[in-house]
Amino acid sequence: MPVTITIPTPLRQFAAGQSEIEVEATTAGEALDQLTSVHAELRRHLFNDQNTLRNFVNVYVNDEDIRHTDGPNTPVKEGDTILIVPSIAGGSAVLDQTATESKPIISADAILPMLSNEEVGRYSRHLIMPEVGMTGQRKLKAASVLMIGTGGLGAPLGMYLAAAGVGRLGLVDFDVVEASNLQRQIIHGTKDVGRPKIASARDRLEDINPHVEIETHETRLTSANAMSLFRNYDVIVDGTDNFPTRYLVNDACVLAGKPNVYGSIFRFEGQASVFWAERGPCYRCLYPEPPPPGLVPSCAEGGVLGVLPGIIGAIQATETIKIILGAPDIMVNRLLLVDAWRMRFRELKLRKNPDCPVCGDNPTIKELIDYEEFCGITQQPQAAQTTMEEITATELKARLDNGDNIQIIDVREPNEYEIAQIPNSKLIPLGQVLNRMNEIDADRETVVHCKMGGRSAKAIDALQRSGFTGKLINLAGGITAWSNEVDPSVPKY
Ligand SMILES: [Zn+2]
Repeated sequence: MPVTITIPTPLRQFAAGQSEIEVEATTAGEALDQLTSVHAELRRHLFNDQNTLRNFVNVYVNDEDIRHTDGPNTPVKEGDTILIVPSIAGGSAVLDQTATESKPIISADAILPMLSNEEVGRYSRHLIMPEVGMTGQRKLKAASVLMIGTGGLGAPLGMYLAAAGVGRLGLVDFDVVEASNLQRQIIHGTKDVGRPKIASARDRLEDINPHVEIETHETRLTSANAMSLFRNYDVIVDGTDNFPTRYLVNDACVLAGKPNVYGSIFRFEGQASVFWAERGPCYRCLYPEPPPPGLVPSCAEGGVLGVLPGIIGAIQATETIKIILGAPDIMVNRLLLVDAWRMRFRELKLRKNPDCPVCGDNPTIKELIDYEEFCGITQQPQAAQTTMEEITATELKARLDNGDNIQIIDVREPNEYEIAQIPNSKLIPLGQVLNRMNEIDADRETVVHCKMGGRSAKAIDALQRSGFTGKLINLAGGITAWSNEVDPSVPKY
């Protein structure tokens, strides 16, 4: 029976760039077999050596996770859609409606702060709405929200929460505003380039609403400081861009009993949900383990449509305000997928995993751990570097000028090649490098490069593992180093 498999953006490079592939199958497992027999490279990313689906890949038939149906034997019928949903930057408790409505963030008998006449004027469009009203607006004033990150997601989020009159906003960030942030991080302006993000964000938020108390924490969120920070706030909003911090935020929220308003973005696709262990699943119930380092590219590597964090951040702001107001239908037990390119919104059901290591029935994680190690970030790059030969841009230029017989392979994407190239380089994107191995002359020395040196190291590693015998050398710092050291006319991006 013909069914459609949707391929998520990070994996499309392994499926000839396609977003949807139609296959003939009667079960989900059969469909995935069909898919990966045509696209062998994809198989390595979806399945482990034991031939089972990897932990950071979830497969849905329509809106149901196949882990909660018949797994690979889940039947599919004509017209069904199979979604592959990898974690981007676990079960089976049914939603307990009574639990969802219990224990509001601002308790019913709390003494709420009064609004001044000026505040009444400012919030009038809220006050005349029965869903907010005077009590709701005073709840917002009584509430505190901690935002992790003041970047793409944090920008609209912070601005809307400040405008809405959330009483106390905490900002955690240690980055500095860069010119390449301004395409999406609308809380910062051109004049702020070079300033700490939290200083720039504070100025903007205080200008939007001087009634909001802004607390800045110019620090990296770590296992050492997360619990003490989280305890001081009612709601935590995750606007991070990396897996170690995402798992840290999740675990600290579970341990501190706080709702975690989640959002993530990549290119033109986004995800949003509310993870709240007391009422539903946590992030680990959805993705027990992170993907191996480097498999899922970051926004810095893969790019992001500038308005997408605006959409996802505004959804996070909406859910945060609803949690504070005690709205009945918050996004617990649901994962929203947004495809801005086709402008489609899709919703998947989530369930709490009773075996979840942090929020399950018998948790094994009872305090915060080393998240860099958990995400495999500390060991792997070192292992790769020890055996890899490198060349600097200056050395490469000298050897080329000397007439040495060197071929240059560029493993970036075609649209990056359009922005800037090293002369006489041949483009073979990373996802095609194994299939096109025969295009690389093994009798010549080969310098492999990308933007910064990371993807080219992966390409060399993959080629060597696949038995390529020629000499491969990594260009340290990639085309960026070439621009810095050799030819400043090559644009940096
Ligand atoms: Zn969990």
